[in-house]
This record gives sequence, structure tokens and C-alpha cells, in this order.
Amino acid sequence: MRSKESFHEDHVQVLKFCLFPSPFPVRWYSLAVSVQKSINIMIHRVAHDNQFLAEAYKDIVTIDEFSRNLYDIHLKVLRDPKAQSTCLGHFRSDYMLNQDPEILRQIEVNTVAASFAGQSTLLDQLHTYLSRKYPFMVLSEKKSHCSESLRGLALGLVEAWEHYGVADAIILFVISDKETNLCDQKVVELEIMSIQSKANVKRRRLNSLNEHITLDEDNILRLDDQEVAVVYYRTAYVPKNYGSQSAWDARLKLERSRAIKCPPIKYQLAGAKKIQQLLTKKDILKKYVSTSEGLDEIYSTFGAMYPLSRDEEGDQAIDMALRSPEKYVLKPQREGGGNNFFGEDLTDKLLQIKNSEERNAYVLMELVKPVHILNHYITSDKKLKERRYVKDEMSLELGIYGVILANEKKIIHNREAGSLLRSKVYTDKESGITSGSGFIDDIFLY
Ligand code: ADP
Ligand code: MG
Repeated sequence: MRSKESFHEDHVQVLKFCLFPSPFPVRWYSLAVSVQKSINIMIHRVAHDNQFLAEAYKDIVTIDEFSRNLYDIHLKVLRDPKAQSTCLGHFRSDYMLNQDPEILRQIEVNTVAASFAGQSTLLDQLHTYLSRKYPFMVLSEKKSHCSESLRGLALGLVEAWEHYGVADAIILFVISDKETNLCDQKVVELEIMSIQSKANVKRRRLNSLNEHITLDEDNILRLDDQEVAVVYYRTAYVPKNYGSQSAWDARLKLERSRAIKCPPIKYQLAGAKKIQQLLTKKDILKKYVSTSEGLDEIYSTFGAMYPLSRDEEGDQAIDMALRSPEKYVLKPQREGGGNNFFGEDLTDKLLQIKNSEERNAYVLMELVKPVHILNHYITSDKKLKERRYVKDEMSLELGIYGVILANEKKIIHNREAGSLLRSKVYTDKESGITSGSGFIDDIFLY
């Protein structure tokens, strides 16, 4: 991975990883895998329920400029009959295992910030290699798990490209100015080549894209002179990804185009924390998932979530959190890590927003107290230079990927698509790898 702190185009360094696969109970892993296809469909259906989205975003758009910009683009796309109606989703549903009682808890579903599908498979291979080379790694020898995440993502992109059906059209990866995840993306590009050699990938920065893309009268998207079949966003999910109005203009063009987006803006909107909070109400959830599709199983993974709306329900949630801040986490409408408030910060933030409309943009979630295990992590962190590997107590966050290609009338493909395990030092609050905390890990099922 490229370093965030000392970014240089030509420098990559070891992505922090766990030396051994971490033990994870097969029972909870299987539950997470078994519901993934229904989670894909759930997001897809929510994204197509315009009334529900309008209601959910009603208060948020008045106070959160970023959400308003996204929602405005969504409305413009809805009014454009030539915009592509087939959607590609590559989601990652993240979970932690609560210790007491032992129960799987969904943390969130990522609809854009779902990286590391490439590196997750590579880490599996690394662990397999290490276990053969160093027989003392007994645990790994018995390893019964291999993440198909790289193949799953690449196949999804190729299927979308095939669905678009133009042999010389390209797949466009939209990246950030200082893209740290180059390697994770490059392996996906290579995998695409191995599945379908005709599907060429080009990578372009969102902030310098606008002058290079055009829409013709049929909303065909061209990058310079090349038709674009699929747009795969690796950026565009936090405000700082949009350097100027030109990035927003580019986003609108991409969204209005005939190219298939991964994800289209409606999927991004459906992945917001506010929607997640609403879906923890079973009456709402059952509109999007039926009993035979796993309604109860999905619901069983949800922890309590509360709106901070300016009404009795919101007031009660705020009182509750101020009384016991150690039991909750406060979340804004963002993805990608480093956005949440815990403990004293949560109290300070709540006191600050309590009497303003701003509170509508947050949700409160019950804190998971996760199981912890011992592992070693390998890091190129300068602060730890003397100790390249460190033994510590870790907690785990399991991610299950899902791929869906669908439009309003038809589900074309829908699959569970491999897994990712991320570990963090037990005392750290967040396990986002891109945002600086957390290690990429791999599962030893038991
Ligand atoms: P983001 O979209 O920014 O990644 P998340 O909801 O995934 O937001 O939260 C970021 C991190 O914070 C998670 O990866 C997890 O480590 C921690 N976290 C989030 N929600 C909880 C929770 N309910 N209990 C414990 N830790 C949590
Ligand atoms: Mg997250």
C-alpha cells in the first residue's frame, strides 16, 4: 500500500497484516455468509424505493451539504430517461462478534468503501505459503478457509462489462488524487484481464476527469474517445474526495450516463447510516426482505440503533447516551473510517449538537464489546521500527462481500463474493485500514 503519511507515487510499503489467521467461529461466519445474497437484494430494493429515500433524506439534506449534493444528483438521474438502469453493487457487510453474550453484530454495509477484496485473497495465499514454509504454523496448516473476494469482484465487473455488450468499451476505475490503494486495485485489474482479456481497464482521478469525459445525445459515456461500459468508484464517498465543482460535475455526468456504475448513486444513498438505522425497525426491514429470504436471520445480527431526530425518540436517545456514553457510538452519514465518536468525544459532540438541527445528521448505535484473541501483526510503521512484529490482544471485524447486477425488473446476478477479516488492537476504537488503524487478516474457522 502507498503510505498516507509520506505519500509518494513510486513508494509502496507493506500493508499492515496479521502473521497468523485469526480464529473465528464457523457458526457465525456461516450465518454472515448465508444472509449476504439477501443483503444485496435488500440494498437494491431500498435504493429503488424513491419515497423511502426521500423521507429518510428529508432532514439530512437540509443540514449536510455532502449528502445534499449526492441526493441532488440522484434526483437529476431519476429525471433522465437515458441514464443506465442496470446497477452493479459490490458491497461488504461488516460484523463484529460480541463477547457476552456471544452474538454476531452487523456494524454496517459498505456500498462504496468496500476495499481490500484484492488483498484479502493475497493474504490467504501468503498465509498458505507461510504455513508450508514454517511448519510451526500449525494453525494455518489446518486452515479451511480461502477468500474468493478477488475473483468475486473481478467477475462482477466483467459480467457488467459483458452485459453492456460493446466489445471495445472500457472499464473505468475512478480513483482519488493520492490513491493509497493502488496495489489492491491493480490485482483486480489483473484478475479482470485473466477472466476476459478484451475488457480493458483505465484508471483516472475523479478530480481531473471532467474535461476528459463526454456524454453524447444517447448518454453514451466516453473517456477521451473511448466508450465506457462500466464505472468502478474507488473514491467519491467522502467530501474531501471532491476537490472542486469539477469533481461534482464529473460525478453527475458519470451517473447520468449509459455506463453501468459500481455503485450507482442510489446504492451509495442506500448504504447510509441513517438508512441502516431505519432498517433496524423490523416493520421497515420486512418491506425489503421476506421471511423466506432470511428476514429473521438478518434481523438477528442488528444491534440497537437510534435516530437523533428533534422529537421524543431523539431526545430519549440523547439522554440515554449522555448517561452512559461508554455503551454507544455516534455516527455521521459518512463511510470510510475515522468519522465516529466514542466515549468522551461522544459526550462532547452530543452536547454540541443537542440543540441544533445538526443532530438529524447523526445516528446512535449500541457499542459492541468484541471477543479478543492473541495474534502478531507485521507493520512498516516508523514508530514501531524497532519491533517489526508485535504481539497483542486483537479484536476482529469480519466483512462478507456481495455482488449484485440488477435493474428494477430483473436480478441478473446475485452472489456472496468472499470475505475479509480485519483486526485491530483491542483498545483501538476503529479498524479501518485505509484510515490508518487495523490490519488485514485472514480467518481460521473453528
Ligand atoms: P465507517 O463507514 O466510517 O467505516 P463504521 O460504522 O464501519 O463506519 O465504523 C468504523 C469503525 O468503528 C468500525 O470498523 C468499528 O471498528 C468501529 N465501530 C463502529 N460501530 C461499532 C459498534 N457498534 N461497536 C463497536 N465498534 C464499532
Ligand atoms: Mg466501516
